[in-house]
Amino acid sequence: MGGTPIFAKEAKGAYLYDEDGNRLIDYINSWGPMLLGHAYEPVVNAVIEKAKKGTSFGMPTALETEIAALAVSMVPNIDKIRFVNSGTEACMSAIRLARGFTQRDKIIKFSGCYHGHSDSFLIQAGSGAITFGSPNSPGVTAGTAKDTLLARYNDLENVKQLFEVNKNEIAAIIIEPVAGNMGCIPPAKGFLEGLRQLCNDNGTLFIFDEVMTGFRLAKGGAQELFNIAADIVCFGKVIGGGLPVGAFAARDEIMNCLAPVGPVYQAGTLSGNPLAMAAGLAMLQEINSDAQLFQRLEEKTAYLEKGISKVLTDANVVFTINRVGSMISVHFDANPVSDFQTAANGDNETFKKFFHGLLREGIYIAPSAYETWFITDALTYDDLDFTINAVSKVAKEL
Ligand code: PMP
Repeated sequence: MGGTPIFAKEAKGAYLYDEDGNRLIDYINSWGPMLLGHAYEPVVNAVIEKAKKGTSFGMPTALETEIAALAVSMVPNIDKIRFVNSGTEACMSAIRLARGFTQRDKIIKFSGCYHGHSDSFLIQAGSGAITFGSPNSPGVTAGTAKDTLLARYNDLENVKQLFEVNKNEIAAIIIEPVAGNMGCIPPAKGFLEGLRQLCNDNGTLFIFDEVMTGFRLAKGGAQELFNIAADIVCFGKVIGGGLPVGAFAARDEIMNCLAPVGPVYQAGTLSGNPLAMAAGLAMLQEINSDAQLFQRLEEKTAYLEKGISKVLTDANVVFTINRVGSMISVHFDANPVSDFQTAANGDNETFKKFFHGLLREGIYIAPSAYETWFITDALTYDDLDFTINAVSKVAKEL
């Protein structure tokens, strides 16, 4: 997007304060973790109290077991969960586990989906990889790339063809059940169901990368929202409450393939770190005990969607808005945005003006057309009105 990078100084609730003394309403929220707002007190206090008692042990803690039990109780179709340090590690370990379990090598990923920066996934990746022009990163060997098959998001026929050509070779399909790394793209009706069926028919595992959607779209994530069972689920972002955490989870039969019970190796010096687990546990407890949270997030984001749509329409701007729950993105194209290609058709120059215009008005959205906005519950309706008003001003300049 050009311009001068913003340096964060501090943040509280829905607001970010930069080193130049500006207050920004934050629609990135650390790329998702801050579902309840920045410096959320129960999370901060849990971290402070834990830090006084030691910051890393390299051995099990009751705390890690407690957050594991809570996560397993909130999310459907999982019996065990393993904590790691990032979403990247979660997805990387999930495909190793799927390959070990199925004794197959190939995986299917979707163009424009991002599953972190491990080698197997940097093939037509979304997010920063596409923003910075390297969806296929140098450094990924041809040997690795050949085991990653690419499909078009929302194109079931395309996936069927891959299964026909690679019979009995596909270990897993990995998908963002709501894509958030090419803007926000909802799964078309029947798409996830169709993939589930294909996996069942072919002895392939279905991996939901819920790094963005987990504990954001519902307590049980996209599995709960769409009522589709995944075989392995990856988490990050919200599950760590803003500390470096990822996790992957599955039913016993699959998780028991993982070391030390099974042969598929995975480990980490700081995995299950007490500060990270304390933050994550405080976060999940808040989410679990607030029966209205997801309804409030839905209502706030729907209000924002409606307001932005109105002012952009009034200003004769050509746009499409995609939204699922508290994930939303604005695309400057008239046609539906349903996959990587249609996301790439958006007018980047207009997006650039939109981004910088909003920044000037004190609104911080992701500096890329290939990212979703993450709505936080800390936003008030006054903040949303302020934002819609800012969009109205900026729309006149587009
Ligand atoms: N999967 C998805 C869906 C993501 O959005 C991201 C990060 N944005 C990752 C995996 C990687 O997570 P991390 O940046 O914590 O490694």
